Amino acid sequence: MNVFIVHAHPEPRSMNGAMTRTAVEELGARGHQVKVSDLHAMGFNPVMGAGDFDGFADGDFLKYQMEQERACTEDKLSADIAAEIEKCQWADLLILQFPISWFSVPGILKGWIDRVFVRGTFYGAGRTFERGGMQGKRAMLSLTTGGLPPMFSETGRFGGLYPLMFHLNYGSLRFVGYDVLDPFVVYGPARIGQDAREAYLDQWRTRLASVEDEAPIPYPLWDQFDENFQWLPGHEHALHTLRSPVASNSVMESAT
Ligand SMILES: Cc1cc2nc3c(=O)[nH]c(=O)nc-3n(C[C@H](O)[C@H](O)[C@H](O)COP(=O)(O)OP(=O)(O)OC[C@H]3O[C@@H](n4cnc5c(N)ncnc54)[C@H](O)[C@@H]3O)c2cc1C
Repeated sequence: MNVFIVHAHPEPRSMNGAMTRTAVEELGARGHQVKVSDLHAMGFNPVMGAGDFDGFADGDFLKYQMEQERACTEDKLSADIAAEIEKCQWADLLILQFPISWFSVPGILKGWIDRVFVRGTFYGAGRTFERGGMQGKRAMLSLTTGGLPPMFSETGRFGGLYPLMFHLNYGSLRFVGYDVLDPFVVYGPARIGQDAREAYLDQWRTRLASVEDEAPIPYPLWDQFDENFQWLPGHEHALHTLRSPVASNSVMESAT
């Protein structure tokens, strides 16, 4: 399996740094090929702009998605974007590794998604969700938090991890076609002891050992909606709380 890790943390000695190194070692030891984009180390530019294309159609008005689509067809995306797309196309599994930031991804990773998940290669008219450009591939979030598990429970102050991550799991990864695996979460690494952090890293290794066979989150298919994008009777789901049958961190969630 080819695995692409997009790493978004400025400090290599952080828990996120340890998680990416653990993944590279564990996956490599199992015979998988791994590529890493360390966004801070690369100085990745997260800001969308006219420079993302080798010229654009109307010099007076930048319609970003249209230019993305045109640039895909005409091979006119900037080299940094084209290189990241190539890694996405190469990979069977995409892992986004990040510390949660304002209930979301850090800005540098949000900008990576903005610029790399281009209209054209990743999605387009009639090509979203299970029909998206990344169909047949897998993706997952691997993240750390400042808060502890009770805050992220469905009844907790932060309102539940799955609703919080819905915009990424469904609105970004699933939207472009990925089969989305349950997130892997290290809760409050700065607030727990060394033993607990090492236990999390062991759990991450165990998770990666079988990630190839994991069932994805059972998001709905297009044929479960009518022509007005409403659920057909009998298919209604609470979309934002859907999770995979695999409980990724259940042991640690109850232990911390
Ligand atoms: C702008 C911003 C917004 C934020 N928003 C949120 C938010 O919305 N919600 C929220 O919950 N939190 C939020 N946070 C907090 C943030 O998510 C956490 O600080 C972060 O997830 C912790 O992960 P880290 O990798 O930075 O940990 P670190 O603090 O770098 O690491 C924790 C500890 O792990 C140790 N460590 C490193 N390697 C290993 C190893 N191999 N084995 C064992 N231990 C190791 C380190 O030495 C360190 O002591 C925010 C932070 C910022 C800066």
